[in-house]
Amino acid sequence: MNFQFSVTTLKSNLQTVRARIARAAESAGRDLNGITLVAVSKTIPAEMILAASELGVRHFGENRVEEAGEKITQVVSRAPQSTWHLVGHLQSRKAKEAAEFFNLIQSVDSVSLAQKLAARAAAIGKRMPVLIQVNVSGEATKFGFAPAAREKFFADTREILSCQHLDIQGLMTIAPSGTDPNAARPHFRALRELRDQLCAQFPDCAWQHLSMGMTDDFEAAIAEGATIVRIGRAIFGDRN
Ligand SMILES: *Cc1c(COP(=O)(O)O)cnc(C)c1O
Repeated sequence: MNFQFSVTTLKSNLQTVRARIARAAESAGRDLNGITLVAVSKTIPAEMILAASELGVRHFGENRVEEAGEKITQVVSRAPQSTWHLVGHLQSRKAKEAAEFFNLIQSVDSVSLAQKLAARAAAIGKRMPVLIQVNVSGEATKFGFAPAAREKFFADTREILSCQHLDIQGLMTIAPSGTDPNAARPHFRALRELRDQLCAQFPDCAWQHLSMGMTDDFEAAIAEGATIVRIGRAIFGDRN
């Protein structure tokens, strides 16, 4: 692929995505400033990420710590203002690297991982921003807490909230894959309702973020209150 051509495509893809986000926000009567675009750059080379950075993208999402570490170092050296989100499942043994490289870990999916991250954050003297990943659809293939088991979920949440070196900023979910955004919408609504219940149950936590919506369904997610959308293919093209 010719790089210059790719940057041209990247630019028009970004314009389209930003326009669609703006339109979705407007239809929902929401402030565009309340919606953060995370460009999911997994499998995308550092050069292309830097090109996106030059086009004004500040937030990038990666799903594997090994792959991300080197890319983040490379990109940050030239784009120090870039902010990094871990959106994929994190194994406890990689908690240390994750805490060092990422600005927000969106995929906290167990109490033990939260505790491991908190310990790592304490060791490097930071308070690690995280989201709690929730498996709203209950699909067996997906990571995340099962909110259907309400008592257990609230008990686990209480444990995570007691981790001193974590800054819990809200919830993340992945809707079932498929190209029909109307099918995803009830899952996004369920995450918003869960957030409202958590706000009532644990009012000391702000629960400010709802990270939901990807290439195929981000408009539905914005309609249901997404504050973070994670978009890969619509920006960088199909992954190999
Ligand atoms: C890959 C990925 C995305 C982006 O998906 P696209 O369909 O490419 O927009 C978002 N969130 C997570 C957790 C992902 O793994």
